[in-house]
Amino acid sequence: MLPIYLDNNATTAIAPEVLEAMLPFLKQEYFNPSSMYEAAKPARKAVEQARDAIAAAIGAEHASELLFTSCATESVNAALFGAVQANPNRRHIITTAVEHPVVTESCRELERRGYDVSWIGVDRQGQIDLGQFVRELRPDTLLVAIMHANNETGVVFPIERLARVVKETDPAILFLCDATQSMTKLPINLGGNFHYVDMLAFSGHKFHAPKGIGGLYLRRGTRCRTWMIGGHQESGRRGGTENVPYIVGMAQAVELAATTHDEDRKRIESLRNKLEQGILQKISHVEINGGGAERMPNTLNVAIHFVEGEGILYQLSDMGICASSGSACTSGSLEPSHVLSAMGIPFTAMHGSVRFSLSRYTTEAEIEFVLREFPEMIARLRRLSPYWDQTHNRPR
Ligand code: PLP
Repeated sequence: MLPIYLDNNATTAIAPEVLEAMLPFLKQEYFNPSSMYEAAKPARKAVEQARDAIAAAIGAEHASELLFTSCATESVNAALFGAVQANPNRRHIITTAVEHPVVTESCRELERRGYDVSWIGVDRQGQIDLGQFVRELRPDTLLVAIMHANNETGVVFPIERLARVVKETDPAILFLCDATQSMTKLPINLGGNFHYVDMLAFSGHKFHAPKGIGGLYLRRGTRCRTWMIGGHQESGRRGGTENVPYIVGMAQAVELAATTHDEDRKRIESLRNKLEQGILQKISHVEINGGGAERMPNTLNVAIHFVEGEGILYQLSDMGICASSGSACTSGSLEPSHVLSAMGIPFTAMHGSVRFSLSRYTTEAEIEFVLREFPEMIARLRRLSPYWDQTHNRPR
């Protein structure tokens, strides 16, 4: 039996349309797009068509502002370290306490190299402290690195407002947005609401393209050093033979999302709300992490008091339900989530937090199955939980 897959913020299934579009470039059109002979022309054309399509979908002014990478991790590294190298006179960076490890660990590395990093806190709902953000902007601020939507809670940051404040304070400060969770799911228009964003990172596998392909938007004129020295590919900024099938697949995934976006969004949000309401009704002592903030329509992070998150995930897994306790990278560890601790979620609630993330392939029957089995499972775990006993004064 196929698992019930509710971990779409970790990765998504490849859409059949995407696989279909990729196949010719895995089979007969295998040529190197840089080769000069006639046979390689379709591969070259496919890469440029994909670039045009994705650049247009995000409102880029020029297709050349979009570079293909292997994943969002590469894109963020390239943007952060490339910007640091190209702007040696400034040494202050602003980020938040709830970023994905690609940003937090890169910023920690910059701290070790002598850069000054301001870590902006969030409130109990996971929303950014705007006052602190504005106060941290300094004459030597080089870059702001902030996510659009949080991978653990789905909380959406007001990128338009933040980027505007930055540029109105000092147009030379670079604004990097990690849009890995929001790409194709929330409106992103680099000529509109994201007009003040200089750099934008994303990964194809979060929106039904394969793993191993990503993108970095670099606004024309942004000072950022080349990161992958090699051939002339990607305007000489990122050497390496292009991954033609995956590039084609990612463009197909972007186009697919554009045509189905409104319908998908409504359906996914209503399934997420059904799951959320059902859990709130059927299980006592639960709260929705980030529930009071604007959130991604597909994400539900729920704190279940008096049980261990690890136990919940194992039990869910036994029932064929895939969920997670946090980001894909940290869910393998027992460390409490840095996102939930930055939000001030109490220790016991943090340990019993589970993230369900839906996609266009999630069905109503799957949500109903979870709503039938999950409350029972929590009741069983609580009967075994010493925390539950202590709080409810039952002698063991
Ligand atoms: N940024 C965010 C917000 C993410 O959720 C992730 C992955 O979960 C990444 C960056 C890194 O993406 P990738 O592992 O595809 O490089």
